[in-house]
Order: sequence, then C-alpha cells, then structure tokens
Amino acid sequence: MLPNKISFMRLGIRQKMILVLLGVLMIALGVNGWFALKRQQESILKETNRYASDITRYVSRSLAFSVVGYDYHTIQLLLDELIKSKDIEYVKVSNSKGKTMAEAGALRDTSEHQVTLHEPIRIDNDVVGHLTIGVSTLNITKNMEEQRSSLIKRESFIILLIALGEFLALSYIIVRPMGIISRSIRGSVTGDGKITSDIPLQSGDEFGDLAQQFNLLRTELNSANARLQSKIDAADNKLLETNQKLLKQSLELKLMNKELQQLSITDALTGLYNRRHFDATTETEVTLSLRHGEPNSLLLIDIDFFKKINDVHGHDAGDAVLKDVATALRDHTRKSDALCRIGGEEFAILCRRADTPGALALAEKLRAAVEAHTVRVNNKNISVTISIGAASIPDDAGTDSAEKLLKCADIALYHSKKRGRNQTTHFSLITDYDREKENVIPFAR
Ligand code: GH3
Ligand code: MG
Ligand code: MG
Repeated sequence: MLPNKISFMRLGIRQKMILVLLGVLMIALGVNGWFALKRQQESILKETNRYASDITRYVSRSLAFSVVGYDYHTIQLLLDELIKSKDIEYVKVSNSKGKTMAEAGALRDTSEHQVTLHEPIRIDNDVVGHLTIGVSTLNITKNMEEQRSSLIKRESFIILLIALGEFLALSYIIVRPMGIISRSIRGSVTGDGKITSDIPLQSGDEFGDLAQQFNLLRTELNSANARLQSKIDAADNKLLETNQKLLKQSLELKLMNKELQQLSITDALTGLYNRRHFDATTETEVTLSLRHGEPNSLLLIDIDFFKKINDVHGHDAGDAVLKDVATALRDHTRKSDALCRIGGEEFAILCRRADTPGALALAEKLRAAVEAHTVRVNNKNISVTISIGAASIPDDAGTDSAEKLLKCADIALYHSKKRGRNQTTHFSLITDYDREKENVIPFAR
C-alpha cells in the first residue's frame, strides 16, 4: 500500500485530478448503469411474458372449436404455422383429459432461453383442452446484451466527456494560477534572499488573495531585508575599522616590544650590547661551539688608567672617551661578533668561529686602532690605550664552559696589565714561568 501511496503523492495536480475524476465518475456511472440495466431487464421480461400470454390466449381461442371437433388436421396446420413465427419454438395441444392432440417444434432441455406457458382452451367457460407454448428468449437476451453494450459505450463516452470538461475547468481554475504563482516565485528570488517581482495574478478567488498576500509580504520582507543589510554593512565597517585599529596597535606594540627588547640588551652610553646580553650570548655560543667542535674566542678589553682620565679631565670627558673607544672597537669588529660593554671601562667581544691566531690578530688590530686614535674633549686631545686578554675554544684545554672561557680571558687581561698595559695576551701563550711570577693560578691545562 505504501509505495502506491507515495507514487500517487508524487503525481502532479493534473494527473491526480484525472485519476480522481475518472474514479469517481466510473463508480457513479457504474452504479447508475447497473440500476438502469436491472430495470431494463425487468421490463423486457415483463414485456416477453405479456407478449407470450397474449399469443397463448389468442391461439387458445382460435383452436377451441377445432379441439372440440377433434379436427386434428386443422390443429396441426395451425401449430405448424405458429412454429414458423420467430420467437415460438414449441406448441402442443392436448384434449381436456390431457392427451396430446398435436405438437410442433421442440422443448428445450434447459429452460434458460425459453419461457413455457400453459393456457386452458375454453368454450363458454368450459375447459375443452390445454395449450402449451414455448417462447424463445434468445432474441430478447441478445437484444438486452446489445443494449447493455451500447449503454456501456454511451456511459464511457459520457465519463470521458465529463472528465475532460472538469479537467479543463479545474486546470483553468486551480492549476493555471498555481503555475503562475510557482513560476513567479521561482524566478524572482535572488541569491541574497531578495524577491524582485510581484506575482502577476489578478483574480477574486483564494489564489488571487494568496498572490496579494504574498506581494504584501514581499514588500515587507524586502524592506526588512534592506534594513538588516544596512545594519550588517554598518557593523561590518565598524568591525573593519576596529580590526585596522587593532592591527595598527598590534604593530605598534610589536615595534615597542622590539625596541624594549633592544633597550634591555643595549648599553645606554655607548649603544653597544650590555652585560645582560653578553652573559646570555656567551652561554649559548660556548655551548654551540663545544657541541659542533667549532672555534670561538673571547676578548676582554679594559681601558688603561681610566680613573686618571676621569680625575684629570672630568667624568664627562671620561664618558666621551668611553663612547669614542666603543666606536673605534665597533669600526674594527665584524657584525657577527658580539661587542659588549660589560663594566665601567671594560668591553668584551665574542668572536664566532675565531681561533687563537684570529683572536690575537683582531686584538692587536683593536689595540693599535685605539692607540692611534685621539679623543678630543673640551679642546683637549686625550690619548687612550687598552689592554686585551684573549682566550679560545678549543685551544685552551679545559674551557668547557662560558665561565671558564671568561676566567681564561680575564687571566690573559691581567697578564697584559702586568706587562705594562697597551698589550694583547692570549691565555694559551702565557708561559708557566710567567704565571708563577705573576702569581696567576691556572685552573686549566
Ligand atoms: P687600570 O689601567 O688598572 O685598568 O686602571 P684604571 O684606572 O683604568 O682602573 P680602575 O678600575 O681603577 O678605574 C676604573 C674607573 O672607571 C673607576 C670609575 O670611576 C670609572 N668609571 C666606571 N664607570 C664609568 C662611567 O660610566 N663613566 C666614567 N666617566 N667613568 C667610569
Ligand atoms: Mg677595569
Ligand atoms: Mg682600566
């Protein structure tokens, strides 16, 4: 049952209408036809009986005197004549005692298509004999069949005519306006949810009312849609603005962070890296050098007799000297080397991938550059010299940490100072004799 139901629901209105109309009309006309046929059958049977009894009466009267007179010849002639008539198949005349006087035709075995009538033959109310007549109903039945088939044809034609008429009428009344509504809605809804045109249906029925209601709804929906869209646009713009502001602030923040970070590792006076950066970098660099087996050298630089410069020329002049020395050091150092001010008048350079000869060469170059430079402060020339102590990985055996490398460089610096300043010393080149003499306690070697 379910699949039939579903397939019926899938049909269009037109098909459904045809099926329903045909069904209803066939049932109605079938019932009507059945009653009409029944009535017709009854009236035909009645008519047949009336016709047969009329003949029977007429024949019985005609035979009365022949029966009384035992005129067998005349009776037989009459019966033979009668049998020739279309519907009479059997005739028999008996006397008053029931003995057969004459007979013509044959009685059928089945009484299906034959009506048998018995009529007494009288003269002045006296029964002188009996007449039996078998009337065929074949023609009548045939006639009925013809009438039935013509009735069915007529009714089928009427059914079709009514169905067609109702189909056309309902199509015009229901299907056409629904088609207009459906096509109009389908063609007028845009991707962004707007309904662009009214339903063009002008009728006073429910469909016209539906179209009108839809058109009103369309106007309201469109204006609500427009209001909503403008709100969305405004919110979008605001969001965009806020986003841009946030982006700008975030960029500024990033810049500020970068600056702050830079400041936190920069020495304010000279602009070089400060002690904090030096400690962090040395730790990392030494670890990496030891892991990869690459050389790395550390130079510790100290301005000679700086206290005296302060004392003679003043603190500001001291600061100027610090800046000048920093600039000289920077000018002669590679960008990849970390140049730091690690104390009052102390500097350090971490020279990546520089071995002992490289470190010594750089130290000497720096020392000579500072010596050759004259600082001019308050119209006075101030000469400055520096002492340098260097240490390297892996030349200085035992330097397995930043702390030890620093210690070695410090010993080398101390050695330079002891030897009269304006000197460069590499830790690996200090002799045991010198160490003992200078009371330097080696921790590595
Ligand atoms: P040496 O040759 O043995 O290194 O002698 P020195 O005088 O350079 O060494 P000392 O450690 O005795 O003196 C360093 C001086 O540097 C002491 C201090 O007043 C001064 N100083 C430290 N920081 C600054 C600074 O930022 N500016 C100035 N102008 N002087 C500073
Ligand atoms: Mg010092
Ligand atoms: Mg000094």
